[in-house]
Amino acid sequence: MNERKNSKLAFERACNVIPGGVNSPVRALKAVGTTPLFVSHAKDTYIYDIDDNKFIDFCMSWGVFILGHNQDTVSKAAAEAVMRGSSYGICTEAETVLANKVREAFPSMEKLRFVNSGTEATMSAIRVARGYTGRDILVKFEGCYHGHADHLLVAAGSSVATLNNASSAGVPQGFTQYTVVLPYNDTEALEKYFAEHGDEVAALILEPVACNMGVVPPTREFLEATRRLTSAHGSVLIFDEVITGFRLSFGGAQQRFGIKPDMTTVGKIVGGGFPAAAFGGKKEIMDMLAPEGPVYQAGTLSGNPVAMAAGIATLDQLKQPGFYDELEERANDFCARLEKIIEGKDIYLNHCGTMFTLFFNQKNPTNFQETKASDQERFARYFNNMLERGIYVSPSQFEGNFISRCHTPEILDYVLKSIEESIE
Ligand code: PMP
Repeated sequence: MNERKNSKLAFERACNVIPGGVNSPVRALKAVGTTPLFVSHAKDTYIYDIDDNKFIDFCMSWGVFILGHNQDTVSKAAAEAVMRGSSYGICTEAETVLANKVREAFPSMEKLRFVNSGTEATMSAIRVARGYTGRDILVKFEGCYHGHADHLLVAAGSSVATLNNASSAGVPQGFTQYTVVLPYNDTEALEKYFAEHGDEVAALILEPVACNMGVVPPTREFLEATRRLTSAHGSVLIFDEVITGFRLSFGGAQQRFGIKPDMTTVGKIVGGGFPAAAFGGKKEIMDMLAPEGPVYQAGTLSGNPVAMAAGIATLDQLKQPGFYDELEERANDFCARLEKIIEGKDIYLNHCGTMFTLFFNQKNPTNFQETKASDQERFARYFNNMLERGIYVSPSQFEGNFISRCHTPEILDYVLKSIEESIE
Protein backbone atom coordinates (compact mmCIF):
# COMPACT_ATOMS: atom_id res chain seq x y z
CA MET A 1 0.00 0.00 0.00
CA ASN A 2 1.33 3.49 -0.80
CA GLU A 3 1.35 6.40 1.62
CA ARG A 4 -2.27 7.44 1.11
CA LYS A 5 -1.01 10.97 0.44
CA ASN A 6 -4.04 12.03 -1.61
CA SER A 7 -6.46 10.74 1.02
CA LYS A 8 -4.62 12.72 3.69
CA LEU A 9 -4.84 15.92 1.65
CA ALA A 10 -8.50 15.27 0.86
CA PHE A 11 -9.14 14.80 4.57
CA GLU A 12 -7.52 18.16 5.37
CA ARG A 13 -9.75 19.87 2.81
CA ALA A 14 -12.81 18.06 4.14
CA CYS A 15 -12.04 19.07 7.71
CA ASN A 16 -12.26 22.73 6.71
CA VAL A 17 -15.89 22.43 5.73
CA ILE A 18 -17.31 19.22 7.24
CA PRO A 19 -17.18 18.61 11.02
CA GLY A 20 -14.42 16.11 11.65
CA GLY A 21 -14.08 15.80 7.88
CA VAL A 22 -16.79 13.14 7.74
CA ASN A 23 -20.54 12.80 7.29
CA SER A 24 -20.76 9.91 9.72
CA PRO A 25 -18.36 9.72 12.68
CA VAL A 26 -16.99 6.18 12.36
CA ARG A 27 -15.55 6.98 8.93
CA ALA A 28 -12.93 9.24 10.54
CA LEU A 29 -11.09 6.06 11.70
CA LYS A 30 -10.28 7.79 15.00
CA ALA A 31 -10.89 4.60 16.98
CA VAL A 32 -8.09 2.92 15.08
CA GLY A 33 -5.74 5.88 15.21
CA THR A 34 -5.46 6.66 11.53
CA THR A 35 -6.98 8.93 8.87
CA PRO A 36 -9.84 8.07 6.53
CA LEU A 37 -9.67 6.50 3.12
CA PHE A 38 -11.17 8.54 0.32
CA VAL A 39 -12.70 6.17 -2.17
CA SER A 40 -12.69 6.69 -5.92
CA HIS A 41 -14.72 3.64 -6.92
CA ALA A 42 -15.62 0.07 -5.99
CA LYS A 43 -16.36 -3.22 -7.72
CA ASP A 44 -17.22 -6.64 -6.30
CA THR A 45 -15.18 -7.11 -3.10
CA TYR A 46 -12.80 -4.27 -3.84
CA ILE A 47 -12.69 -0.61 -2.97
CA TYR A 48 -10.14 1.67 -4.65
CA ASP A 49 -8.90 4.83 -2.98
CA ILE A 50 -7.76 8.08 -4.58
CA ASP A 51 -4.12 6.99 -4.14
CA ASP A 52 -4.73 3.96 -6.39
CA ASN A 53 -4.67 1.48 -3.52
CA LYS A 54 -6.99 -1.49 -3.77
CA PHE A 55 -8.57 -3.03 -0.68
CA ILE A 56 -10.58 -6.15 -0.05
CA ASP A 57 -13.59 -4.74 1.77
CA PHE A 58 -15.28 -6.37 4.76
CA CYS A 59 -17.36 -3.35 5.69
CA MET A 60 -19.32 -3.43 2.40
CA SER A 61 -21.00 -0.10 3.12
CA TRP A 62 -21.93 -1.42 6.55
CA GLY A 63 -23.60 -4.54 5.28
CA VAL A 64 -25.39 -3.10 2.26
CA PHE A 65 -23.61 -5.06 -0.46
CA ILE A 66 -24.35 -8.72 0.08
CA LEU A 67 -24.05 -9.13 -3.71
CA GLY A 68 -20.77 -7.20 -3.85
CA HIS A 69 -20.08 -3.58 -4.76
CA ASN A 70 -21.42 -2.05 -7.92
CA GLN A 71 -23.16 -5.09 -9.38
CA ASP A 72 -24.04 -4.63 -13.04
CA THR A 73 -27.74 -5.44 -12.81
CA VAL A 74 -28.26 -3.19 -9.79
CA SER A 75 -26.21 -0.28 -11.13
CA LYS A 76 -27.90 -0.56 -14.52
CA ALA A 77 -31.41 -0.63 -13.02
CA ALA A 78 -30.59 2.47 -10.97
CA ALA A 79 -29.02 4.28 -13.93
CA GLU A 80 -32.07 3.57 -16.08
CA ALA A 81 -34.33 4.89 -13.33
CA VAL A 82 -32.27 8.09 -13.11
CA MET A 83 -32.67 8.62 -16.83
CA ARG A 84 -36.45 8.51 -16.43
CA GLY A 85 -36.36 11.11 -13.64
CA SER A 86 -34.86 10.77 -10.19
CA SER A 87 -37.72 12.00 -7.99
CA TYR A 88 -41.30 13.15 -8.45
CA GLY A 89 -42.88 13.45 -5.03
CA ILE A 90 -45.74 11.56 -6.69
CA CYS A 91 -46.56 7.83 -6.61
CA THR A 92 -44.73 5.30 -8.78
CA GLU A 93 -45.56 1.64 -9.33
CA ALA A 94 -42.03 0.64 -8.33
CA GLU A 95 -42.93 1.38 -4.69
CA THR A 96 -45.69 -1.24 -4.73
CA VAL A 97 -43.49 -3.71 -6.59
CA LEU A 98 -40.72 -3.45 -3.99
CA ALA A 99 -43.20 -3.42 -1.09
CA ASN A 100 -44.60 -6.73 -2.34
CA LYS A 101 -41.12 -8.21 -2.62
CA VAL A 102 -40.29 -7.11 0.94
CA ARG A 103 -43.53 -8.60 2.21
CA GLU A 104 -42.84 -11.84 0.40
CA ALA A 105 -39.57 -12.07 2.37
CA PHE A 106 -41.10 -10.78 5.62
CA PRO A 107 -44.73 -11.97 5.83
CA SER A 108 -44.97 -10.29 9.26
CA MET A 109 -44.79 -6.94 7.42
CA GLU A 110 -48.41 -7.10 6.29
CA LYS A 111 -48.13 -3.45 5.32
CA LEU A 112 -45.02 -1.36 5.06
CA ARG A 113 -43.83 2.09 4.21
CA PHE A 114 -40.54 3.23 2.69
CA VAL A 115 -38.33 5.89 4.22
CA ASN A 116 -34.78 7.06 3.50
CA SER A 117 -32.70 5.65 6.33
CA GLY A 118 -32.66 3.12 9.13
CA THR A 119 -32.93 6.01 11.57
CA GLU A 120 -36.22 7.09 10.05
CA ALA A 121 -37.49 3.52 9.94
CA THR A 122 -37.00 2.85 13.65
CA MET A 123 -38.15 6.33 14.68
CA SER A 124 -41.34 5.93 12.65
CA ALA A 125 -41.97 2.36 13.81
CA ILE A 126 -41.76 3.47 17.43
CA ARG A 127 -44.11 6.38 16.83
CA VAL A 128 -46.73 4.10 15.28
CA ALA A 129 -46.31 1.59 18.10
CA ARG A 130 -46.91 4.35 20.63
CA GLY A 131 -49.90 5.64 18.69
CA TYR A 132 -51.33 2.14 18.50
CA THR A 133 -50.89 1.22 22.15
CA GLY A 134 -51.48 4.67 23.62
CA ARG A 135 -48.45 4.03 25.85
CA ASP A 136 -45.14 5.86 26.12
CA ILE A 137 -42.42 3.52 27.40
CA LEU A 138 -39.89 2.14 24.94
CA VAL A 139 -37.61 -0.68 26.05
CA LYS A 140 -34.29 -1.11 24.26
CA PHE A 141 -31.15 -3.07 25.01
CA GLU A 142 -27.76 -1.78 25.96
CA GLY A 143 -25.36 -1.79 23.03
CA CYS A 144 -28.10 -2.05 20.40
CA TYR A 145 -28.08 0.83 17.91
CA HIS A 146 -31.26 1.95 16.23
CA GLY A 147 -30.13 5.14 14.52
CA HIS A 148 -29.68 8.63 15.89
CA ALA A 149 -33.17 9.80 16.85
CA ASP A 150 -33.07 11.63 20.19
CA HIS A 151 -34.96 9.09 22.27
CA LEU A 152 -32.84 6.23 20.92
CA LEU A 153 -29.46 7.67 21.80
CA VAL A 154 -29.56 5.99 25.14
CA ALA A 155 -27.05 3.31 25.86
CA ALA A 156 -25.75 4.25 29.27
CA GLY A 157 -26.68 2.43 32.42
CA SER A 158 -26.83 -1.29 32.64
CA SER A 159 -28.96 -1.33 35.74
CA VAL A 160 -32.29 -2.96 35.17
CA ALA A 161 -35.40 -0.86 34.83
CA THR A 162 -33.61 2.44 35.18
CA LEU A 163 -34.73 5.44 33.20
CA ASN A 164 -31.51 6.59 31.63
CA ASN A 165 -29.58 9.66 30.65
CA ALA A 166 -28.92 10.37 27.00
CA SER A 167 -25.57 9.28 25.65
CA SER A 168 -25.25 12.27 23.36
CA ALA A 169 -24.99 15.94 24.21
CA GLY A 170 -27.85 17.94 22.78
CA VAL A 171 -30.55 15.49 23.83
CA PRO A 172 -32.72 16.96 26.57
CA GLN A 173 -33.26 14.68 29.53
CA GLY A 174 -37.00 14.87 28.92
CA PHE A 175 -36.64 13.35 25.45
CA THR A 176 -35.27 10.12 26.87
CA GLN A 177 -37.42 9.84 29.97
CA TYR A 178 -39.53 7.11 28.39
CA THR A 179 -36.60 5.06 27.14
CA VAL A 180 -35.68 2.12 29.34
CA VAL A 181 -32.42 0.28 28.76
CA LEU A 182 -31.94 -3.36 29.71
CA PRO A 183 -28.94 -5.66 29.23
CA TYR A 184 -28.92 -7.78 26.07
CA ASN A 185 -29.28 -11.53 26.50
CA ASP A 186 -30.45 -11.13 30.09
CA THR A 187 -33.80 -12.95 30.17
CA GLU A 188 -34.15 -12.57 33.91
CA ALA A 189 -33.80 -8.78 33.79
CA LEU A 190 -36.35 -8.64 30.98
CA GLU A 191 -38.82 -10.82 32.88
CA LYS A 192 -38.41 -8.74 36.00
CA TYR A 193 -38.99 -5.48 34.17
CA PHE A 194 -42.08 -6.76 32.38
CA ALA A 195 -43.47 -8.25 35.57
CA GLU A 196 -43.36 -4.79 37.14
CA HIS A 197 -44.01 -2.45 34.20
CA GLY A 198 -45.04 -4.58 31.20
CA ASP A 199 -48.47 -3.00 30.92
CA GLU A 200 -46.88 0.44 30.44
CA VAL A 201 -44.58 -0.65 27.63
CA ALA A 202 -45.53 0.62 24.17
CA ALA A 203 -42.74 -1.19 22.38
CA LEU A 204 -39.70 -3.36 22.84
CA ILE A 205 -37.12 -2.81 20.11
CA LEU A 206 -34.06 -4.95 19.52
CA GLU A 207 -31.53 -6.11 17.01
CA PRO A 208 -32.47 -9.80 16.91
CA VAL A 209 -28.79 -10.49 16.38
CA ALA A 210 -26.85 -7.57 17.82
CA CYS A 211 -24.35 -6.12 15.41
CA ASN A 212 -23.61 -2.69 16.79
CA MET A 213 -21.67 -3.86 19.83
CA GLY A 214 -19.78 -6.16 17.50
CA VAL A 215 -21.71 -9.26 16.48
CA VAL A 216 -23.47 -10.76 19.50
CA PRO A 217 -26.02 -13.49 18.79
CA PRO A 218 -29.02 -13.82 21.09
CA THR A 219 -29.69 -16.91 23.13
CA ARG A 220 -32.84 -18.66 21.98
CA GLU A 221 -34.31 -18.28 25.45
CA PHE A 222 -33.78 -14.50 25.35
CA LEU A 223 -35.25 -14.07 21.89
CA GLU A 224 -38.27 -16.18 22.76
CA ALA A 225 -38.76 -14.16 25.94
CA THR A 226 -39.01 -10.93 23.95
CA ARG A 227 -41.95 -12.42 22.03
CA ARG A 228 -43.61 -14.07 25.00
CA LEU A 229 -43.47 -11.04 27.30
CA THR A 230 -44.57 -8.45 24.75
CA SER A 231 -47.50 -10.67 23.73
CA ALA A 232 -48.51 -11.16 27.34
CA HIS A 233 -48.51 -7.42 28.04
CA GLY A 234 -49.90 -6.05 24.79
CA SER A 235 -46.63 -4.33 23.87
CA VAL A 236 -45.41 -4.09 20.29
CA LEU A 237 -42.33 -6.20 19.53
CA ILE A 238 -40.10 -4.48 16.96
CA PHE A 239 -37.27 -6.37 15.32
CA ASP A 240 -34.78 -3.88 13.98
CA GLU A 241 -33.52 -5.85 11.00
CA VAL A 242 -31.75 -2.94 9.31
CA ILE A 243 -28.62 -5.11 9.29
CA THR A 244 -30.00 -8.64 9.62
CA GLY A 245 -32.83 -8.24 7.09
CA PHE A 246 -32.01 -9.99 3.79
CA ARG A 247 -28.68 -10.89 5.44
CA LEU A 248 -29.26 -13.79 7.83
CA SER A 249 -31.73 -15.29 5.37
CA PHE A 250 -34.02 -13.79 2.75
CA GLY A 251 -36.52 -13.22 5.58
CA GLY A 252 -33.87 -12.00 8.02
CA ALA A 253 -33.44 -13.06 11.63
CA GLN A 254 -37.16 -13.67 12.10
CA GLN A 255 -37.13 -16.37 9.44
CA ARG A 256 -33.86 -17.80 10.72
CA PHE A 257 -35.11 -18.10 14.30
CA GLY A 258 -38.79 -18.65 13.52
CA ILE A 259 -40.03 -15.75 15.66
CA LYS A 260 -42.64 -13.34 14.34
CA PRO A 261 -42.43 -9.76 15.62
CA ASP A 262 -45.32 -7.29 15.39
CA MET A 263 -43.20 -4.78 13.52
CA THR A 264 -39.95 -4.87 11.55
CA THR A 265 -37.51 -2.34 10.20
CA VAL A 266 -35.25 -3.09 7.24
CA GLY A 267 -32.64 -0.91 5.54
CA LYS A 268 -29.25 -1.22 3.88
CA ILE A 269 -29.71 -4.20 1.51
CA VAL A 270 -33.30 -3.23 0.65
CA GLY A 271 -32.11 -0.04 -1.07
CA GLY A 272 -29.39 -1.76 -3.09
CA GLY A 273 -26.89 0.94 -2.08
CA PHE A 274 -29.29 3.89 -2.30
CA PRO A 275 -30.99 5.70 0.58
CA ALA A 276 -33.99 3.49 1.32
CA ALA A 277 -35.31 1.67 4.35
CA ALA A 278 -38.74 0.46 5.40
CA PHE A 279 -40.84 -0.12 8.46
CA GLY A 280 -43.86 -2.34 8.56
CA GLY A 281 -45.89 -4.82 10.52
CA LYS A 282 -49.38 -5.87 11.40
CA LYS A 283 -52.02 -4.25 9.25
CA GLU A 284 -53.95 -2.84 12.20
CA ILE A 285 -50.81 -1.13 13.53
CA MET A 286 -49.68 0.24 10.18
CA ASP A 287 -53.15 1.56 9.39
CA MET A 288 -52.65 4.01 12.26
CA LEU A 289 -50.48 6.02 9.84
CA ALA A 290 -51.67 9.18 8.10
CA PRO A 291 -53.60 9.53 5.86
CA GLU A 292 -55.57 6.52 7.20
CA GLY A 293 -54.95 7.18 10.87
CA PRO A 294 -53.75 9.79 13.35
CA VAL A 295 -49.97 9.03 13.42
CA TYR A 296 -48.07 11.43 11.17
CA GLN A 297 -45.08 10.37 9.09
CA ALA A 298 -43.87 11.61 5.69
CA GLY A 299 -40.89 12.15 3.37
CA THR A 300 -40.05 14.13 0.22
CA LEU A 301 -37.78 11.40 -1.13
CA SER A 302 -39.51 8.39 0.48
CA GLY A 303 -39.96 5.57 -2.01
CA ASN A 304 -37.50 7.28 -4.30
CA PRO A 305 -37.69 5.69 -7.77
CA VAL A 306 -33.92 5.19 -8.12
CA ALA A 307 -33.66 3.47 -4.75
CA MET A 308 -36.75 1.37 -5.54
CA ALA A 309 -35.20 0.21 -8.83
CA ALA A 310 -31.94 -0.74 -7.10
CA GLY A 311 -33.86 -2.52 -4.33
CA ILE A 312 -35.93 -4.52 -6.80
CA ALA A 313 -32.84 -5.56 -8.78
CA THR A 314 -31.12 -6.62 -5.56
CA LEU A 315 -33.97 -8.62 -4.03
CA ASP A 316 -34.58 -10.43 -7.31
CA GLN A 317 -31.06 -11.84 -7.12
CA LEU A 318 -31.25 -12.74 -3.44
CA LYS A 319 -34.35 -14.80 -4.12
CA GLN A 320 -32.49 -17.20 -6.38
CA PRO A 321 -32.58 -20.72 -4.93
CA GLY A 322 -29.51 -21.63 -2.90
CA PHE A 323 -28.17 -18.08 -2.62
CA TYR A 324 -28.08 -18.02 1.19
CA ASP A 325 -27.11 -21.68 1.65
CA GLU A 326 -24.11 -21.32 -0.59
CA LEU A 327 -22.93 -18.07 0.96
CA GLU A 328 -23.43 -19.33 4.48
CA GLU A 329 -21.45 -22.48 3.76
CA ARG A 330 -18.55 -20.34 2.58
CA ALA A 331 -18.85 -18.13 5.69
CA ASN A 332 -18.98 -21.15 8.01
CA ASP A 333 -15.87 -22.63 6.43
CA PHE A 334 -14.07 -19.27 6.76
CA CYS A 335 -15.09 -18.95 10.41
CA ALA A 336 -14.09 -22.52 11.27
CA ARG A 337 -10.63 -21.91 9.86
CA LEU A 338 -10.43 -18.55 11.61
CA GLU A 339 -11.26 -20.20 14.94
CA LYS A 340 -8.16 -22.35 14.57
CA ILE A 341 -5.94 -19.35 13.82
CA ILE A 342 -7.01 -17.41 16.91
CA GLU A 343 -7.02 -20.33 19.33
CA GLY A 344 -5.14 -19.54 22.54
CA LYS A 345 -4.46 -15.92 21.53
CA ASP A 346 -7.02 -14.05 23.64
CA ILE A 347 -9.05 -13.35 20.54
CA TYR A 348 -12.59 -14.64 20.14
CA LEU A 349 -14.85 -14.89 17.15
CA ASN A 350 -18.58 -14.23 17.22
CA HIS A 351 -20.42 -14.94 14.01
CA CYS A 352 -23.89 -15.51 12.68
CA GLY A 353 -24.38 -16.36 9.04
CA THR A 354 -22.23 -14.01 6.99
CA MET A 355 -21.59 -11.48 9.78
CA PHE A 356 -18.66 -11.74 12.15
CA THR A 357 -16.54 -9.83 14.67
CA LEU A 358 -13.14 -10.72 16.07
CA PHE A 359 -13.01 -9.62 19.69
CA PHE A 360 -9.68 -8.93 21.36
CA ASN A 361 -11.12 -10.23 24.56
CA GLN A 362 -10.84 -12.93 27.21
CA LYS A 363 -14.02 -14.67 25.99
CA ASN A 364 -16.85 -14.59 23.46
CA PRO A 365 -18.90 -11.58 24.58
CA THR A 366 -22.64 -12.05 25.13
CA ASN A 367 -23.59 -8.44 25.93
CA PHE A 368 -22.37 -4.85 25.75
CA GLN A 369 -20.52 -4.88 29.07
CA GLU A 370 -18.53 -7.83 27.83
CA THR A 371 -17.77 -6.43 24.38
CA LYS A 372 -16.66 -3.20 26.08
CA ALA A 373 -14.01 -5.17 27.94
CA SER A 374 -12.22 -5.78 24.61
CA ASP A 375 -8.70 -4.46 24.10
CA GLN A 376 -9.23 -1.61 21.65
CA GLU A 377 -5.54 -0.88 21.26
CA ARG A 378 -4.90 -4.41 20.09
CA PHE A 379 -7.86 -4.09 17.75
CA ALA A 380 -6.41 -0.86 16.32
CA ARG A 381 -3.08 -2.58 15.63
CA TYR A 382 -4.92 -5.44 13.95
CA PHE A 383 -6.95 -3.02 11.79
CA ASN A 384 -3.83 -1.18 10.63
CA ASN A 385 -1.91 -4.39 9.98
CA MET A 386 -4.80 -5.61 7.84
CA LEU A 387 -4.94 -2.28 5.99
CA GLU A 388 -1.22 -2.65 5.21
CA ARG A 389 -2.07 -5.99 3.62
CA GLY A 390 -4.80 -4.42 1.51
CA ILE A 391 -7.79 -5.44 3.60
CA TYR A 392 -10.33 -2.99 5.01
CA VAL A 393 -12.06 -4.58 7.98
CA SER A 394 -14.82 -2.67 9.75
CA PRO A 395 -12.92 0.00 11.65
CA SER A 396 -14.15 -0.55 15.19
CA GLN A 397 -14.31 -3.31 17.74
CA PHE A 398 -18.02 -2.58 18.03
CA GLU A 399 -19.01 -3.32 14.45
CA GLY A 400 -19.61 -6.34 12.27
CA ASN A 401 -17.82 -7.53 9.14
CA PHE A 402 -19.78 -8.72 6.16
CA ILE A 403 -19.08 -11.49 3.70
CA SER A 404 -20.60 -10.99 0.26
CA ARG A 405 -21.12 -13.18 -2.76
CA CYS A 406 -17.92 -11.69 -4.21
CA HIS A 407 -15.72 -12.85 -1.33
CA THR A 408 -14.50 -15.90 -3.22
CA PRO A 409 -12.76 -18.83 -1.49
CA GLU A 410 -9.45 -17.57 -2.97
CA ILE A 411 -9.97 -14.10 -1.49
CA LEU A 412 -10.94 -15.61 1.86
CA ASP A 413 -7.78 -17.77 1.82
CA TYR A 414 -5.69 -14.62 1.43
CA VAL A 415 -7.66 -12.91 4.19
CA LEU A 416 -7.09 -15.78 6.63
CA LYS A 417 -3.36 -15.72 5.93
CA SER A 418 -3.36 -11.95 6.49
CA ILE A 419 -5.26 -12.26 9.76
CA GLU A 420 -2.73 -14.81 10.96
CA GLU A 421 0.14 -12.44 10.17
CA SER A 422 -1.67 -9.38 11.52
CA ILE A 423 -2.34 -10.79 14.95
CA GLU A 424 1.18 -12.06 15.46
N1 PMP B 1 -30.70 0.09 13.04
C1 PMP B 1 -29.61 -0.70 12.96
C2 PMP B 1 -29.67 -2.08 13.51
C3 PMP B 1 -28.46 -0.22 12.36
O1 PMP B 1 -27.37 -1.00 12.30
C4 PMP B 1 -28.45 1.09 11.84
C5 PMP B 1 -27.22 1.68 11.18
N2 PMP B 1 -26.14 0.90 11.05
C6 PMP B 1 -29.60 1.86 11.95
C7 PMP B 1 -30.71 1.32 12.54
C8 PMP B 1 -29.64 3.25 11.42
O2 PMP B 1 -29.61 3.23 10.04
P1 PMP B 1 -29.12 4.51 9.20
O3 PMP B 1 -27.67 4.65 9.43
O4 PMP B 1 -29.49 4.16 7.79
O5 PMP B 1 -29.89 5.67 9.70
